[in-house]
Amino acid sequence: MEEVTYQGMTFVPYIKRDEIAQQVKRLADEIKRDYKDKAPLFLCVLNGSFIFSADLFRACDLHDAEITFARFKSYQGTQTTGHVEQVMGFSEDLTGRHILIVEDIIDTGLTAQQMHKELARHNPASVKMVSLLFKPDALQVKECAPDYVGFSIPRKFILGYGLDIDGLARNLPDIYVLKEND
Ligand code: 5GP
Repeated sequence: MEEVTYQGMTFVPYIKRDEIAQQVKRLADEIKRDYKDKAPLFLCVLNGSFIFSADLFRACDLHDAEITFARFKSYQGTQTTGHVEQVMGFSEDLTGRHILIVEDIIDTGLTAQQMHKELARHNPASVKMVSLLFKPDALQVKECAPDYVGFSIPRKFILGYGLDIDGLARNLPDIYVLKEND
């Protein structure tokens, strides 16, 4: 793995694909155990979590699991705007469903808070959240900490494995972090 450059910034290798795959497997084992008889509806939060969702959903291989998609937007470049907008709604009937929100990363928790608010209006049976990455030091909404976490990381900007910078870098199979002196 070598350094990569996007928008004039340099990113260095941070989490390798093997380590990601290991955590996906561990999370899938926990989720399979907890949702065995619950016919969960995975809710993939686009765009960032589409790769993680696909890997996790397959690794869970629960017979009665379904997946659906919603889209929220808050980031521009390497900064959150603090304003979270739902740009694609829920297409399924969520009433009485056991929902598992699948996030790529929880940073401030503002996107997750907005999602919980929207979901509550549809009377689901339960709502839990799995996030591949979690920045505990950046969390502003304490009740929005994920129930299942792949990696807890410091407050640094990362990309790859679905995570972007202005739409780019989502197709990197490994995760990279912004180089310190940039
Ligand atoms: P939150 O609402 O928790 O502050 O942020 C959630 C969204 O911000 C994530 O789904 C992701 O799209 C974006 N985000 C937060 N931290 C990072 C980061 O380090 N890198 C990238 N590429 N996106 C991030």
